[in-house]
Formats: sequence, structure tokens, C-alpha cells
Amino acid sequence: MVWLLLLVATLPYKILKGKVERKDFHTYIERSFTLPKGVKRLRIEFSYDGREQRTAIDIGLMDPERFRGWSGGARNTFTISEEEATPGYLPGVLPAGQWTLLLGVPNIREGVVSNYEARIYINESSDKPIHTEAGWYRGDLHIHSGHSDGKCAAQSGVAVPCPVYRVVETAVNKGLDFIAVTDHNTTSQADALRELQPAFDKILLVPGREITTFYGHANIFGVTDFIDFRTTDATYAAARGWMNAVNKSGGIISINHPGLPSGENCMGCGWQIKDIPDKVITAVEVVNGATMNHSIGGWDLWHQMLNSGQHVTAIGGSDDHHAENIGTPTTVIYMKALSVQGLIDGIRSGRVFIDMEGDKNHFLDVLATHGRDTVYMGGVLKVAPSDTINVTAYVKGVSGGKVEFIMDGQINPALSRDIASNDEKIQVDPESHWHTMYVKVLDKEGKLALVGNPVYVDTQCAEPDSRRR
Ligand SMILES: [Zn+2]
Ligand SMILES: [Zn+2]
Repeated sequence: MVWLLLLVATLPYKILKGKVERKDFHTYIERSFTLPKGVKRLRIEFSYDGREQRTAIDIGLMDPERFRGWSGGARNTFTISEEEATPGYLPGVLPAGQWTLLLGVPNIREGVVSNYEARIYINESSDKPIHTEAGWYRGDLHIHSGHSDGKCAAQSGVAVPCPVYRVVETAVNKGLDFIAVTDHNTTSQADALRELQPAFDKILLVPGREITTFYGHANIFGVTDFIDFRTTDATYAAARGWMNAVNKSGGIISINHPGLPSGENCMGCGWQIKDIPDKVITAVEVVNGATMNHSIGGWDLWHQMLNSGQHVTAIGGSDDHHAENIGTPTTVIYMKALSVQGLIDGIRSGRVFIDMEGDKNHFLDVLATHGRDTVYMGGVLKVAPSDTINVTAYVKGVSGGKVEFIMDGQINPALSRDIASNDEKIQVDPESHWHTMYVKVLDKEGKLALVGNPVYVDTQCAEPDSRRR
């Protein structure tokens, strides 16, 4: 089934073939094709023969109403979607009806016949991996550009809407592998990211958005469609529409800075939407860079969700508005590949840690073992009550610090251990009377350096009595 889908996804929607001869020299050929309703993304791949005889064919495109761009002989493929397009082409709605591929013929020699082929693809995925290798990737999941309220200094020093390239440059200088640009409620930054990605080909630029309501803020990743953010009360019923839309289209939701107070200083900043069912929310921004030093974290809400049995991944975000503090904190995610899908799957899996200061030497991984079963952060270990579980924390770059184990939201002081070196393996063997356990790492000054995600323990299914009930 999966193979079939992949195969279908790579087949062209239509192929236009034709030939060019000397009679076409210095003319424009129009080749029309019909687009159905509901197309969100169109890519055309163009090829022709006779280049060795100096045949040249230029390409451009018209939709049913207007000109959509021209790339001449500069490229053999281009994409147009609602939010972004290949440079040279205009993003926007793709109306159903008759479209026209424009072919200009700057040169064809007498006696030469050149065959061309235009392959038209619709609704392809735009996700291309930056790295195909699985591994730990470091980035920032919460950044604003001038497409919302991000400001930075112009040549003269005055504050102007911060261009996206400044955000990307800053992230590159901080050594990050990915960033999500999450402007408030809009996706207009996606076109800039699209233009910058080929030039910044070592950092994944993720189109995100901060859904900004009167009752709380939440980042969404992996969705580029318009999401109707208008939430007019603090009930789940009022937010269900946009939350479902995000999840249905394969995206994820992360509640932002839930600990912030809401009021006239920061309208709608705290999270007030209650009674959200399990599995709707994937992550919580436990550490927000803008509020990192004021101890207004997202801990309370995260602990409440964990204690209610939800599996929610703790992440961080700088919430930078000035292309300055990007990467503080850094979220480090184990991904199958450095791609948008890899990032989403990685956050979903929970094998993620937050690096408060964003130091490349910092590392944290946690695994729990019982018998022959081993799980990483985010995994569920099935055990019988009072079984002993072996928990191992791998910590790098925090010599002189301390590891703390947080069980069901409470620190277990008996398990705290000092970190003797910069490459440390710490093992504890607690009994399984807890459901969630995550690791906090403090540096040698006692300041929080790293936060891991929980290993979950499920004592239900291994308990014969409860199974019978
Ligand atoms: Zn916010
Ligand atoms: Zn923000």
C-alpha cells in the first residue's frame, strides 16, 4: 500500500510532448492543460533534445487569468503553490481551468527537429531532506521575522521589520541544523524560506506558525494551508476546528509559553483552553527563551498533562524577535532524516532534549530497560508493579553538574547523582511505582542546563488482575 502511494505520488498528472522546428524560430508556442479544482501545488519539469545543435527553448506559465512567471532557459523545473514559488514565479491560489505553458524559441537551426516534454505534477510533497542520515539535530522551534512582529536594525539603525534572511543568517552563525519561523497566524514568510533554502543548504528551514488566539498561543509545524485561528472563548469546542485541521493535515501542535500570565501586557499569552482530549496536543514549550530567566516555564501544564496520562513532548523555543537570541534554548531532536517530516516524527516520538544555553558539546539521552525490553525517551516500558527498572542517562559536556530524576512530576532526591566527567553514563534502578520519569541536568553552578523527555512506564498490561476486570 505504501509503495503504491509512493509510486502514484511520483507519476506526472499530465505529460505534454511536442516538437520544435525552424518554422518556430523566434515565436512563442502555447501549450494548454487543464487543472482540476483543489490543486495546492504545481510543479512542471521541462526537457528537450537538440541542445548540441544549439536549440534553445524558454519556459513560462499563465494561469486562466494571469501571468504566473517566466524562467527562460534558467531552469528545467519550477513549482508554484499557494504560499510560495520558485524564484521567477508568483505564488498564490491555483485556479481550476485552462493553464498555458509558454514556450519561447530563441534558437532552432534549419533542418533540426527538437523534441520537448513537459511533465506536470500536482500536489507533490515539498519536503526534501537536508540530510538523509538518522541522528541528533539541533535547532530552534520558535522564531519571529518581520512577517509578524520581528524587528531588527536597518543600515541607519532604525528598527524595521526583520527580513527572513537575517533570521536564517543568525541561525547559521549559531551552528543550528534547523529553524522554524513561526510568525503570528500568517504563512507569508514561507515564500522567503522557499527562496533562501537552496542558498542555505545545510540548515532545514521549517515553515511554522504561531497560532495566536485570545486564549493562548500554540506553534504548529508541517502545515502550510490557512488555519482559521479565530477562537472566541476558552473552550475546546471553540478551538477544536483549528486543532483538528492541523492534525488532519499531518501537522503537530505545541502549546507555547503556557506559564505566561495573560493580561493587558501580553494579551492572550497564557494558555487558557481547557479539557483538550488526549492526542490532540503533541508538545508543550516548557522552556521559552523570552521568559527563561523569569522562571515562568511551562512546567505546571506539562506535568498536569503527563500526570493525566497524556504523552506530550517537552520542547523549547527562543521566541526571538530580533534575529539575536536564536538557539537559546536549543531543542535537540533525534530524527530519521533532517527533513520536515523527520522533525515532526522526531517530536512525536519524544526522543528530544532541551539545551538551555544551546552549547554544541551538550548531550543527553535516556534509556530504560526491563528484562529484554529497552526504550528511549518517549517510549513506553511494559512492566509489572514493583518490578525494578534500569534507567541510564548519557550526559555530555556538563562535568561538575548533577543529574536529577523527576518521577510523576516530583524530583526523587535519592536518585540524584553528581556528574564527574564530560562524558558520563549514570545508572539508577528504581522500582516501577511511577508512570513518567524524565531527567534534568544542572550545571556546576546549579543552573538548569538540560531537560530530557519522559520514559513512560505502563504497569496495566502486565498486571493479571487488571487485565481480567
Ligand atoms: Zn506567543
Ligand atoms: Zn512567539
